[in-house]
Amino acid sequence: MTVPRPAWMSRRPAARPSLLVQFGSLSLVIVVVLGLVIGQLLHTLIADRAQANARASAEVYLQLVQRSFFTPDLQSPSAGTVATPDQLSLSEQLTGDPVVRQQVLSATAWLADGTVVFSTARDEIGTRELLPASARKALAGETVSGIADSSRVRSDAYDLGQHAGEQVMFVDMPLSIGGSSRPGVVVEITQDYVQTEAAIRHDTSMVYGWLAGGLLVLYLALFRVVATASRRIRHQSAVNRDLALHDTLTGLANRSLLRDVATQALTTSRRHDDHVALLLLDLDRFKEINDTLGHHHGDLLLALIGPRLRPALRPGDTIARLGGDEFVVLLPGVVDAAEALQIARSVLGLLDEVFAVEGVELDVGGSIGIAVSPEHGRDFETLLRHADVAMYAAKTNQTGATVYDPAHDANSPARLAMLGELRRGIDTGQLVLHYQPQVDMDSGEVTGAEALVRWAHPTRGLLFPDEFIPLAERTGLIRPLTLAVLDQALAQAARWAQDGRPLAVAVNLSARSLLELTLRDDVAAALARHGVQGGMLELEITESTVMADPERALVVLRSLTELGVTVSIDDFGTGYSSMAYLQRLPVHGLKIDRSFVTDLGGDVNEVIVSSSIDLARSLGLHVIAEGVEDRSTWDRLARLGCHTGQGYYLSRPVPAEVFDEWFARHLDGELAAVPGV
Ligand code: C2E
Ligand code: CA
Ligand code: CA
Repeated sequence: MTVPRPAWMSRRPAARPSLLVQFGSLSLVIVVVLGLVIGQLLHTLIADRAQANARASAEVYLQLVQRSFFTPDLQSPSAGTVATPDQLSLSEQLTGDPVVRQQVLSATAWLADGTVVFSTARDEIGTRELLPASARKALAGETVSGIADSSRVRSDAYDLGQHAGEQVMFVDMPLSIGGSSRPGVVVEITQDYVQTEAAIRHDTSMVYGWLAGGLLVLYLALFRVVATASRRIRHQSAVNRDLALHDTLTGLANRSLLRDVATQALTTSRRHDDHVALLLLDLDRFKEINDTLGHHHGDLLLALIGPRLRPALRPGDTIARLGGDEFVVLLPGVVDAAEALQIARSVLGLLDEVFAVEGVELDVGGSIGIAVSPEHGRDFETLLRHADVAMYAAKTNQTGATVYDPAHDANSPARLAMLGELRRGIDTGQLVLHYQPQVDMDSGEVTGAEALVRWAHPTRGLLFPDEFIPLAERTGLIRPLTLAVLDQALAQAARWAQDGRPLAVAVNLSARSLLELTLRDDVAAALARHGVQGGMLELEITESTVMADPERALVVLRSLTELGVTVSIDDFGTGYSSMAYLQRLPVHGLKIDRSFVTDLGGDVNEVIVSSSIDLARSLGLHVIAEGVEDRSTWDRLARLGCHTGQGYYLSRPVPAEVFDEWFARHLDGELAAVPGV
């Protein structure tokens, strides 16, 4: 499930045109300029070629007429008429020829002094005039051509009026006469340029057409390639942006998107004068599920959480995963904390239903801490911190959902600091065990010792289990803690055995530890490491631990007893054990809770204790009474049939060295207080 992006987030900076538009316009300009340059170049080429053609045909024409006109009679150019009538008629025939006429409009021949020796304007023959510049240039020996207006045409057959404004082409060619090496005559031929010009125009426009078409195709092809690439890049960057804002496992918003959405919601709520609530949800049994079924199932379960919660939420609410099994629900625009609490309760209601993960049915459940703006904070971070505090309060008090109360906060930073300290404490061996003897009521023989953990805190002194065991149980530190205790207790049992007075050691197990399927292997490894027989280890588990998941407890306990380890039910009488289960469980003993024992004088307690002893004996179980503080209690328990006693009356829990001293004195009979010795 993804979170819709709020409108304000998709707003783009207006000014900058997209890369594609930039590329498109730049490349268009380049293509157009390229087209114009190539076009102009081709146009010039075409025009030059057309003029060269015209010149060539003029030369052909000249060669055609040259001999017949000039060679015989221009020996003496000064001799009056320069063209004979035959020549003239031939010329007229030629210029009148439909083929020639198409091209040649007029022909004029001058001597160097300007005498017209021939002209298609017959009246001009014999006259003398100033030579045009091109003719003078031609006299120097080169052929000169150019474009001029139609007045350049000198021909009787050419109607100037009809061709006014048209352009013609002239070619002035030098001719050597009479064997002279220097040209003596210039012949100028004018040709029609209208057709040539039309041909040039036609060719040029055709070239322009093809060029433009080709460049357009090229441009479009390029544009397409670039547009496709650009679309891919845009898509990829959108995907990247999405990845950066969403949790990959669940597809929910991640912390950074949540912060943005929350910040926006907080701004809006200030304007609307309403509230934003943050629900921090922590799943209750996720770690166990992850540890026992593996990460695969854990991941699948996490992915189901978002969709499961949706029905309890409103369309604009956001679900985010912060990591691990922590989820946040952002509720913008709530009326008050009560409304948020109500939503939180429906969320918990949905979570209570079983999750089916690959055929395994999982009971999850959760705790929710609620913080509401502006009462519990005006910014996202503060709200989140307070929701976290409220969540821990909800967990501790098992209230399900709890609204933040500054009173919760008092121990919260300390709690966090302590968590880190405890982790380090376990790693660096700050946990120490104290031992409390267990003595047989009949014989007075010391049968064992219960190992009770203490934390030698570097600054706070010796801390008792109630100050850190609950914290360890909630956070997954309980496993390393249990392993550390097991290790030390078995090391001690091995020492006692070496000293020739083997004592069973009793170790307390938390509910979490009992539900770990690795427990059997952990215990087996610790026994092997210290070379201790399974029978020298007793595990104490509470009634409530067993009843939390009796089937599972049964499996784990059976696997433990295979190692020879004995198990007893601790705090017996405080829970609601089912007799049926007690019978089925592979337990060896019952430990009557000290709350009934220390105050055995009361009638009710006496009844509870005596019936517990009767029950245990009838089930064939061993009975221990803990919390025996005085001689009379001891005696009374002995009379009621209790097997073993433990309590301050014998010894407080003490370090191993102190225990050994006590033990030595006990053996020496110094402790006469203990009956049976
Ligand atoms: P518990 O298993 O019921 O342990 C017996 C508690 O009763 C011990 O408290 C012990 O000091 C106290 N006690 C013994 N004799 C007397 C007596 O005559 N009078 C009174 N009033 N109290 C007596 P402690 O050591 O503070 O331990 C408290 C609880 O902490 C234990 O209760 C046990 O549940 C838990 N615990 C202790 N060590 C461990 C451990 O290594 N692992 C786990 N998971 N829990 C532990
Ligand atoms: Ca115990
Ligand atoms: Ca107990």
